[in-house]
Order: sequence, then C-alpha cells, then structure tokens
Amino acid sequence: VGMNAQDLGKLLHREPAEIVKKLFMLGVMTNQNQSLDKDAIELIAVEYGINAEEKIHEDISDIDTLYEKQMEASQNSKLQVKRPPVVTIMGHVDHGKTTLLDRLRHTQVSAHEAGGITQKIGAYQVKIDNKPITFLDTPGHAAFSNMRERGAEITDIVVLVVAADDGVMPQTIEAIDHAKSAKVPIIVAINKMDVPGANPEHVTEQLMKYNLIPEDYGGDTIYVQISAKTGENVDELLQMILLQADLMELKADPKQKAIGTVIEARLSRGRGPVADLLIQQGTLHTGDPIVVGNRFGRVRVMTNDRGRQVEKATPSMPVEITGLNDVPESADKIVVFDDEKTARSVGEQRAQQALQQSRENVQHVTLDNLFDTMKKENMKEVGVVLKADVQGSVEALQQSFEKIDVEGVRVNIIHAGVGAVNESDVTLAAASNAFIIGFNVRPTVTAKSQAETDGGVDIRLYSVIYKAIDDVKAAMQGMLEPTY
Ligand code: GDP
Repeated sequence: VGMNAQDLGKLLHREPAEIVKKLFMLGVMTNQNQSLDKDAIELIAVEYGINAEEKIHEDISDIDTLYEKQMEASQNSKLQVKRPPVVTIMGHVDHGKTTLLDRLRHTQVSAHEAGGITQKIGAYQVKIDNKPITFLDTPGHAAFSNMRERGAEITDIVVLVVAADDGVMPQTIEAIDHAKSAKVPIIVAINKMDVPGANPEHVTEQLMKYNLIPEDYGGDTIYVQISAKTGENVDELLQMILLQADLMELKADPKQKAIGTVIEARLSRGRGPVADLLIQQGTLHTGDPIVVGNRFGRVRVMTNDRGRQVEKATPSMPVEITGLNDVPESADKIVVFDDEKTARSVGEQRAQQALQQSRENVQHVTLDNLFDTMKKENMKEVGVVLKADVQGSVEALQQSFEKIDVEGVRVNIIHAGVGAVNESDVTLAAASNAFIIGFNVRPTVTAKSQAETDGGVDIRLYSVIYKAIDDVKAAMQGMLEPTY
C-alpha cells in the first residue's frame, strides 16, 4: 500500500511517533517514513479498532463517515475518560420544562461571577458536587427528533417532566415514544410538587402503563419528585442524572481531534457566522481548521456558556465559535482537519455537492418501496406510527399489526394514539424511518405539508381495518397493488 507511520498517524489522528511506538511494542521495527507492509497496517488497525482497508480508501469529503470513524475510534480508545451526560428535557406543554431549565441555568450563576447571567448558546452546563451535566436548552420532542432525523444523536438522557397535578397527557406519551424510539433512557421528574392536589402516586401509576417502572416496583426507571418553581429536590434530580450517567459509562477520549454537532447557528452583524457546537469526542482548540456541514474555516474565537473566551473545549462541552465561511445548519457535524487548505477544499467540495443534490436524496420508507427497502437494508422491523379515531380501533389495529410476520420481518408500532395525524407523528416517523397509518382520521394541514417537505413521509389513510392489515402484509411480501 506504500503507507508509512506518518500516513497512518494522519488517518488515525495520532502522532506518528505514537504509531512507531505501538508498532515497536507489537514487534515491528520501523521509523516514521519507512513504508509498512499490509500486516503491520492491519496490526495498527486492530489496535485502534478500525478497518484499515476502509480507512485507506475513504473519501475525505465524506465527513459523516469521518465522524463515525472517529466516534468509533474514540469508543475503542484506551485513553477514554468519563464525560458529562447530555440531557434533553421533554414533557407536555405547561408541565414546567422551561421553568426547570431556567432554574437550573440561574442557580449555577453565583453573584460574583462575571456577567452574572449565562449566555444563550443552545446548551449549558450545570455542576453538582463539581461534576458537570450538559442541558440542551431547547425542550421538547420536536427538536429532539428533528436533530435525529438529520442524523444527530446527541442526547444521552431524557428527563421527562410530568406535572403532579395534571398527570400523563398526550405530549407526555409522545415524548416517551420519541425517547424510546431513539433508545435513550428516561428519568421521570414529577413536577409541581408544591401545588395542593399534587398526586405523584397517580402519575407513577399512569406512567407504569408505559413501562416506566420505578425501582420500588422492581423496575429500573428513576423517579424524582420536584418543584421547578421552589427548587425543591432539583439537586436530587441532578444527582440522579449523574447516577444514570454512571450506569451508562459515558466516556470520551479528550486526546483526539474533536468531533461534534451544531446545536444552533446564526449570522451575527459584527462577528459573521456564529455556530453553537456540542463537542462529543476529543478536544477542540482555537485555531483548529474545521469543516462544519458544508462550511469550513478555522476556529477564531471560542466562547463558553458563561460568555467567557476559552482556548479549548472538551467532550460534552457546549461552545460558541466564530471563524466559519458561512452559517452552517443545526445537526451538522464538525470534523477537524490537519490544515486549513484541506478543510477549505473539503468544505468547498461539499457545498458544491450539496447544491447539486439539494434534497432529492431523502427517501423514506413508504408502503410502495417497502419490499425493496426491506431487502436492501436487511430490515428486521417495519416501523409504523398509528393513529385512529377511537381507542378500540387503535388496540385492534395494534394487535393485528404486531401479529404480522413475513419472512422474519415484523411490524414495530413506534407510537399509537387517538386523534388526527399531527406534526409530532410526522417528525417521529421521519426520524425513525417509519410510515404512518391513519384509521378514520386525517392528517392536520401542517402535518400534511410537513410530511411532504420532510422528503415524503408516507401517510396512509384507511377506514376498513382488514384493508390496512392486508396492505401492510402485501407490501412486506412485495405484492402490494399499485395505487392509482
Ligand atoms: P413548559 O410549557 O413545559 O415549558 O412549562 P413552563 O415552564 O412554561 O410552566 C408552565 C406554568 O407552570 C408556568 O406558569 C410556571 O410558572 C408553572 N410551573 C412550572 N413549574 C412549576 C412548579 O414546580 N410549581 C408550580 N406551582 N408551578 C410551576
């Protein structure tokens, strides 16, 4: 292949000297410039948990793949250390998400701290016992699933806020299903405990129907009773988040080059394009040449959530940066390159490609393409979001769908509920690559237009139960009659 330790170091984002040393310890004597045989490269690849062949042939403009590879390399790295958890707060409207986020943000700013107030940079860190937790500042499942739909999975833990005086409501259930579909663990915060008539037992009972079983009942879901308004037990909630994070063994290798995700971005009059980033692995330094989505540049000024200028950002840290050639989009990935020239050429190439493709390639699962997609992607499950006019129909359809088993592929009901097909259903379907079945219901106007702009989320409407089941079955067998 003609690669030497220097080339490998570049590919793996390691010092060439480290590669030489690793090889020495594996019994291969070499220097940085000597070209290596296939076996030596394979040894290094195995050591860093990477498929060398793939790595060598990769296209450097494919930053999604670069990002994935670096994520994988970090996860296999022996230099991993604990990283703070990243939390999203979800729940029904008016149950106290914003109040909780505000309280957390303000309790952290002590009087003597400069500025006195945190900056709005899309996320902020809170410390308890000197251990940080990162909170994403946009509550709710829509933001969560929008990010996910665009390929960004940055949330480690969901805090589900449920008002003790109101109980489980439609958006509570939606939030549960969004979190479950993303396989993100849920911590339940029963809020408004200060309100007379607060009934946490009732809320717990309701939530147990959704498989959120507290430890007292033999489950493993953490419940905390809080008041976002008075601050009661909010510290306890933070402790529980840390406990859950410990169980998950969240780690990162801060020695690597940074990878991260854009939370928000905007154009500032004085400072040009500004992007709020969440660093996920590695450490980002001022001056690093970066590609962010289809943009590029060099990190010029980096600011933390307290409005302080910083020189570096470590895993799970949110920072605001300037220095990009243009405004990126939220959920865009960040990759660091060795030099500005490469970053520029990759960024320019990507911008050009994006222009050419612009949105044509988002293709969701539909009943019409289901059979081919199943074959192509080796699917074991077909995701369905189900809405119907009455609970009886929801249950009947749910049971029938779950019984369908065609060639080892089964139907997974990601969310089922009563009512019109709404925007949340479309976001969830898009993020989970599912399609939507409506029984005796219609999509709302916004849901319909969103389904179209989201790259064609398939909404199927039925008024006869067996027809819906037959269609899904036929589609799974590749025998669906075309619709006219
Ligand atoms: P969101 O829609 O989930 O973001 O809910 P908000 O945070 O906007 O809260 C809705 C209302 O509930 C506001 O009037 C809050 O002041 C109130 N609220 C939130 N948390 C509590 C609480 O713990 N106790 C009481 N009594 N009121 C609360």
